[in-house]
Amino acid sequence: MHFTDLGLRAEILRAVTDQGYDTPTPIQAQAIPLVLAGRDLMAAAQTGTGKTAGFTLPILQLLSTRPAASRVKPRVLILTPTRELAAQVEQSVRTYGKHLSLKSMAVFGGVSIGPQQKALKSGVDILVATPGRLLDHLGQRNVDLSGVEIFILDEADRMLDMGFMPDIRKVIALIPKQKQSLLFSATFPDEIRALAASLLRDPQTVEVARRNATADLVTQAVYHVDKARKRDLLMKLIEDHSWHQVLVFTRTKHGANALSEKLDKAGISSAAIHGNKSQGARTRALADFKSLKLNVLVATDIAARGLDIDQLPHVVNYELPNVPEDYVHRIGRTGRAGSSGEAISLVCVDEHSLLRDIERLLKQDIEKRQMPGFEPDPSIHAEPIENGRNKGRQGKPGGQRSGNRSSQGPGKPVRSSRGPAAQRNTTTQHFGSRAR
Ligand code: AMP
Repeated sequence: MHFTDLGLRAEILRAVTDQGYDTPTPIQAQAIPLVLAGRDLMAAAQTGTGKTAGFTLPILQLLSTRPAASRVKPRVLILTPTRELAAQVEQSVRTYGKHLSLKSMAVFGGVSIGPQQKALKSGVDILVATPGRLLDHLGQRNVDLSGVEIFILDEADRMLDMGFMPDIRKVIALIPKQKQSLLFSATFPDEIRALAASLLRDPQTVEVARRNATADLVTQAVYHVDKARKRDLLMKLIEDHSWHQVLVFTRTKHGANALSEKLDKAGISSAAIHGNKSQGARTRALADFKSLKLNVLVATDIAARGLDIDQLPHVVNYELPNVPEDYVHRIGRTGRAGSSGEAISLVCVDEHSLLRDIERLLKQDIEKRQMPGFEPDPSIHAEPIENGRNKGRQGKPGGQRSGNRSSQGPGKPVRSSRGPAAQRNTTTQHFGSRAR
């Protein structure tokens, strides 16, 4: 199958060719014809599968061939959970739409609202937004959603994790009932199924193999090491292998800052990226990391969600995530779109049960490696994990998930996270590789 078989117009095909793509990915091959046919879609796919082009290419085609009812109101609304993903999706819209004359923009928190307000008022065809900032704009009547023809909810499960469901429902209430809706999610917990049932009309289901089923491009390995020695081991790995671009995950924002500072002091250029950083600092850190000015980017799960860095060679789990699915999301940052990558996890005795949960989800044992001189001390016993799943600092059941509304802007309330039942539900979710 080639892109030319999908019925896309020449201007769009030209943009695709400019990007160097010739073959649609499985999600694109399945989704594009359905979206072009005007169908609602429930798509099981996560970042790294080419899903962004999977929805962007057909919506560009639909918009460019239909007359616009208004020159100001958005005709397409794309909601994403994070600022980075909003920016990336909008960049994709620009990239694939560069030979068309449709206007797009992204609105998200953490940056001043004024310029966004002005741009919205001057008119936009395709609006990409995070829910919180979009509601702010709606509250100020900066934008009118009554002209939305196509609504896309990207990474719906992550929206749920971040407590955005009430905001999403508010937004949906302001969009016309008559519309085409596309819902993308990596997993389908009950809440997402319920949302899909109320939003989608006679939806087509599209599924592609999950990252954990296709992760053969990513070499995974675990180093067992004491917590106090992790930093030295990380520095040794970076130096021994001359790693020049490493995305490192920590569980907490504070941990990300502390590690990044220590690496920097040791001469390994590094920055931290998380929800407490200003949007400017986040954008700058990402740009410097992409251009190899920084060797290491230390990130929390939410900040890294949706980051698309071409051919990222190394991901390090400095700490394992509390939720096994986050491991899959993390290692999905490498080995993307056909390139190979390596995901290394530094695991201390406290994290053994998290590792077991991950291996259970992956249905495979991860290769164990040992670095001479870094053997764990057998006299050290497991302790509860700070911000861990079972031992939250506030003593709440479920602990403190890494995702919360605070990553959308300062001063916003932290919403409750998904309950344990939903988490269990997602760990047993499996997808086949065929469209149904
Ligand atoms: P996504 O899952 O949308 O985040 O896309 C993952 C990566 O795959 C991005 O870097 C895209 O530029 C790239 N990509 C998307 N479609 C294709 C394709 N058909 N061929 C090769 N690369 C692609």
